[in-house]
Amino acid sequence: MMDLLGTPGDAGGGPVRVAGRELPRDELFDRASAVAAEIRGADAVAVHATASLETVVAVVGGMLAGVPVVPVPPDSGPAERAHILGDSGASLLLAASGAERAEGEPPLVPVDALPRGGGAPAAGVPADATALILYTSGTTGAPKGVLISRSAIAAGLDGLADAWAWTPDDVLVHGLPLFHVHGLVLGVLGALRVGSRLVHTGRPRPELYAAAAEGDGGSLFFGVPTVWSRTAADPSAARALRGARLLVSGSAPLPVPVFERLAELTGHRPVERYGMTETLITVSARADGDRRPGYVGTPLPGVRTRLAAEDGSPAPLDGETPGELHVRAPLLFKGYLNRPDATAKSFTADGWFRTGDIAAVGPDGWHRIVGRASTDLIKSGGYRIGAGEIENALLAHPGVREAAVVGTPHDDLGEQVTAYVVADGVAARELTDFVAGRLSVHKRPRVVHLVEALPRNAMGKVVKTRLTEITP
Ligand code: ATP
Ligand code: MG
Repeated sequence: MMDLLGTPGDAGGGPVRVAGRELPRDELFDRASAVAAEIRGADAVAVHATASLETVVAVVGGMLAGVPVVPVPPDSGPAERAHILGDSGASLLLAASGAERAEGEPPLVPVDALPRGGGAPAAGVPADATALILYTSGTTGAPKGVLISRSAIAAGLDGLADAWAWTPDDVLVHGLPLFHVHGLVLGVLGALRVGSRLVHTGRPRPELYAAAAEGDGGSLFFGVPTVWSRTAADPSAARALRGARLLVSGSAPLPVPVFERLAELTGHRPVERYGMTETLITVSARADGDRRPGYVGTPLPGVRTRLAAEDGSPAPLDGETPGELHVRAPLLFKGYLNRPDATAKSFTADGWFRTGDIAAVGPDGWHRIVGRASTDLIKSGGYRIGAGEIENALLAHPGVREAAVVGTPHDDLGEQVTAYVVADGVAARELTDFVAGRLSVHKRPRVVHLVEALPRNAMGKVVKTRLTEITP
């Protein structure tokens, strides 16, 4: 086990700070081993995954015990929480003392009230044992429980350490939720495995990132695109990141205008990477290589990808032709919990995982994510149009703050390009004229709705299936 999360007391193994409270690494493992002693033998344990040290201690405790850990988003409503607790079969709920337990939920174990120490790490836990059951973001439907093995986590993190030249000398800074791949696997287990110090800012706010850059020597910064677009809109916070080593964006597409503005203000071209709960991180730009706005880089070590046309035949790797991205890698998930049909459907007959994302790949291996097959690929008048290109064209207008584009039913065209835009003092007509200069006729939005806000989930992703509900 120690080899999955690094050795306690390792030279260079820095402390872990979450929302202003810090533990030296030895003490973190000491407390986690008390959790391990308490939960050993359980089939699965849930963690009330607030942005707190208790969450980190609980997750590490589960790993030391070899018991699958199920993070529960703290702000999930009763229905989502009941779904996750019921679906996962967790027999205990780990939480900071004082947390609430609803009727019918498993017994609460207060991680901060346990006696220190007490448990040796479980020996002989197989590499393919489930370490985490992570629920997907629910962007396209009900969240699915994804079974992630210890070996997948190790493979994924080592690929990242290689791509980002991530070492114990780094100080990792982020404030992402601790119940998804991004914040938890990369943002906590990554720091532990590599041995770098972790400064979790509690919330992902530009001014908190700036303070960690200046006060804590932050070198490596993780964010989702909403964090980076807020940073790009806050020049003094952005300039504070000039001394950083690497800014990384993932979980959703980073708009090209945000990439450019961030680069201008911070002096760093951000590294973009792509992944999903099922594949952890699969494709990324490298710290020692090129970084291109609108592109997510090349496959990490050990990862193979391919592009499939609609009929399943290989799509050409010409950088233009879109196809469904398929993945094969040691970091793949084991399957969806309790959903054998969904698991079977997500693999091709020859064993490749179907991401459900549409990409274009160039002869140099650089990947561009066009969007999700289900909501981002618009079929209009015989054309297949990626929503992202149109969103970027809208975002290039200085008055546009957010944009989301979908296909809506149309009698002649099948679907028509429809845009939802959050803008400051810009008329819809002005926007259609503006993008007319940037997009060919069939890609121009036929309908533009100006709205107050876009529906987003906890990861800041636009939930496109809910867009039509907000149409004025
Ligand atoms: P659900 O599967 O429940 O609908 P979800 O797919 O949003 O939710 P995650 O596994 O958290 O849940 O997200 C993975 C998805 O996020 C990818 O399939 C892809 O569509 C999108 N994504 C991640 N990184 C990027 C990126 N850099 N650029 C574009 N899209 C990205
Ligand atoms: Mg998904």
